[in-house]
Amino acid sequence: MATMSLTLDNTFTQLENFGHSLRAPSYCFRPTRAEEILEVFNLAKNLGLTVTARGAGRSYNDASLNGGGIVLDMSGMNQILDWDPASGLVRCEPGVTLKQLWQCVEPEGWWPPVVSGTMKTTLGGCLAVNIHGKNNFQKGTIGEHVPEFTAMLPTGALVTCTPKTNADLFHAMISGLGMLGVFTSITLQMKRIYSGLIAVDAWPVPDLSRHLRDLLENAPRYDYIVGWLDTTTGGKNLGRGQIHAARNLKEGEDPDAQKTMQLAFQHLPDRLFGVMPKSLLHYFMSPFMNDLGVLGINTAKYLASLRKHTFRQSHAEFHFLLDYVPSWERSFGRGGLIQYQSFLPKETAEGAWREMIQLSHQRGLPSYLGVTKRHRPDQFLLSHALDGFSLAMDFKVTNNTRAKLSQLLQDFDRIVLKAGGRFYFAKNSETSAEAARAFLGEETLVEFKKFKKRCDPNNVLESDLFRRVFGQSI
Ligand SMILES: Cc1cc2nc3c(=O)[nH]c(=O)nc-3n(C[C@H](O)[C@H](O)[C@H](O)COP(=O)(O)OP(=O)(O)OC[C@H]3O[C@@H](n4cnc5c(N)ncnc54)[C@H](O)[C@@H]3O)c2cc1C
Repeated sequence: MATMSLTLDNTFTQLENFGHSLRAPSYCFRPTRAEEILEVFNLAKNLGLTVTARGAGRSYNDASLNGGGIVLDMSGMNQILDWDPASGLVRCEPGVTLKQLWQCVEPEGWWPPVVSGTMKTTLGGCLAVNIHGKNNFQKGTIGEHVPEFTAMLPTGALVTCTPKTNADLFHAMISGLGMLGVFTSITLQMKRIYSGLIAVDAWPVPDLSRHLRDLLENAPRYDYIVGWLDTTTGGKNLGRGQIHAARNLKEGEDPDAQKTMQLAFQHLPDRLFGVMPKSLLHYFMSPFMNDLGVLGINTAKYLASLRKHTFRQSHAEFHFLLDYVPSWERSFGRGGLIQYQSFLPKETAEGAWREMIQLSHQRGLPSYLGVTKRHRPDQFLLSHALDGFSLAMDFKVTNNTRAKLSQLLQDFDRIVLKAGGRFYFAKNSETSAEAARAFLGEETLVEFKKFKKRCDPNNVLESDLFRRVFGQSI
């Protein structure tokens, strides 16, 4: 980082969201120590600018963008500080990625308790949005596995929070979108594993009703469950797809456990069929990323999934399928993509998603990818989870569809709210202040406002997301 006395000289950068659908010019600093974060806060106060922390920039929306303001690139604070293979406790700087973490702990028989679908995310980014995994129904969100964190507040205080000490702040900062302070160290409890392999059952589901019933009824029998939903098909096939449910192997089930837990075994190959570099694959996917191409691919995928089958695969392959094709999001073209993830109670999900998928077809804006999960509620202040399901839908953005898509997603918001649903601030880029107020509730907003006043009285921490969803209310 440009050292103290700080200036904005040579810090100007153009940043994007993960979906490449948004851009924000910012002044970028890369701290390597907590004190440097404080210096940036002070510079921002002097210049009347706002600050946003940025982990790996893997949020689909504007969570780590701050147009015209300062961005703290946290990737410079990326040391694993302590790792105890006896207890499974690990203490890290916030810029440590999930990749660094699992690669450190797995060879010794541990795995992170909750991971996102990509290993490129940082722990700070994961805590700020309180990520869920394919085991949310069972293990909750990542915050439930954090015994302690420290954070630098814009007031200059370096606070330590645990579920018992500063418990209110603990539950507000985890999920708090980096708007109360910047994490400087994070302790996590890892989960024991007895193999580098995971046992997966895969089976087809013919429609939405069966899809949701299978997620609900099978979740208790597995450690992880996730569905692929063919969002391009309607009529009696609406909601068809495939479920993948997986369980960790028990002690003794894998005779080669010491070998399968080694990193060499967990490697995602760099080349397809041993020949084509995977880094080029997204170019070959691009020509198929249109309504007709995706309909064809989804139909072929569904037909190929008709046979129920069971197999074992490495943890890395199971959890990080989306990392298999580097820069896959580029295949959506120059306009990028928007992901819309809605969380619905189990009683209302089917009706709401039927209406939303049908609406997307009527408007000629089908989603190209649908992913379902089973969830449970949690105690964090800006929680997105509930006792029900989520459906994440990826939409291609073009100059022709941008405005129509924005309207469609706002119409989705109305359907979700009517059905008692919630939204996730790491994904949706259209959620308005009214929609946020409606799903969070007045009481939560008042509470969050109190924390903001206490931790950040001068409103130094702001992001494009914050201004969009809390603009008038906080
Ligand atoms: C392919 C893909 C798959 C995904 N799968 C899942 C999934 O399965 N489950 C899920 O829950 N999410 C998922 N996500 C979303 C992703 O996990 C979150 O957006 C996560 O926040 C990204 O981490 P990041 O380090 O890139 O954070 P960024 O996107 O850079 O930032 C996210 C937020 O964290 C804040 N922040 C970053 N660092 C700090 C810090 N040190 N202190 C305080 N605040 C900070 C930022 O200000 C911002 O508000 C996925 C994303 C992608 C691209």
